[in-house]
Amino acid sequence: CGIVGYIGNREASDILVEGLSKLEYRGYDSAGVAILNNNNLGLRKYKGRLQILKDNLEKQPVKGNTGIGHTRWATHGEPSDKNSHPHANTSGNIAVVHNGIIENYMEIKEKLKVNGYNCVSETDTEVIAHLIDMYYENDLVEAVQKAVKELEGAYALGVINKENPDKLIAVRKDSPLIIGIGEDENFIASDIPAVLKYTRNIFIMEDGEMAIVRKNDITLMTTFGRPVEKEVYTVNWDV
Ligand code: GLU
Repeated sequence: CGIVGYIGNREASDILVEGLSKLEYRGYDSAGVAILNNNNLGLRKYKGRLQILKDNLEKQPVKGNTGIGHTRWATHGEPSDKNSHPHANTSGNIAVVHNGIIENYMEIKEKLKVNGYNCVSETDTEVIAHLIDMYYENDLVEAVQKAVKELEGAYALGVINKENPDKLIAVRKDSPLIIGIGEDENFIASDIPAVLKYTRNIFIMEDGEMAIVRKNDITLMTTFGRPVEKEVYTVNWDV
């Protein structure tokens, strides 16, 4: 239901939790984050209030300057720690957050199984992490493009990968997504209030578009790899 992503110099966990708190009003049943640090991908996700995630992050912090966070409103699979986002691939080096519904996830699950990829959750989302893994050959952007071509339904996605700690990838189809433009830091989010504390300069993503977000650069393209030019939208209202 809510997505936040951060890449920059600050502690990602603080910014992700703060951003997610601004999306709480939308309703949710679980919350989680995935954070990259020194070739490690730290995953924390829990059923229940954002405060539970916060408390756990205080007890067991995950340091790092790149990460994605999610508040889930379950559509496929009951609310549980396991079904909460982010979802990872089997080796735990790719993490995905997703808003929306993947209509053909059962079909994809079968195909993944044949190729030796098994899902551990009941969600429609998890297949995306395995699909990206299956298509990954040293190029994360290409792997994400191949994976989303197989998805039917609605999605806003945030993707990170241990092998590509310099970027986060965002993709949109039929589910809202924005990019927050900072200085030496950038953001992704499902809605503007999540980033308004940090920036007022936004790219509003359209269907079929993706963003490759680095600390000092944002590259916009279609999921077919065609470059996209976009005006910066400056937010002149407050929450
Ligand atoms: N369909 C996904 C799930 O049930 C995402 C739901 C959401 O948008 O929060 O896990």
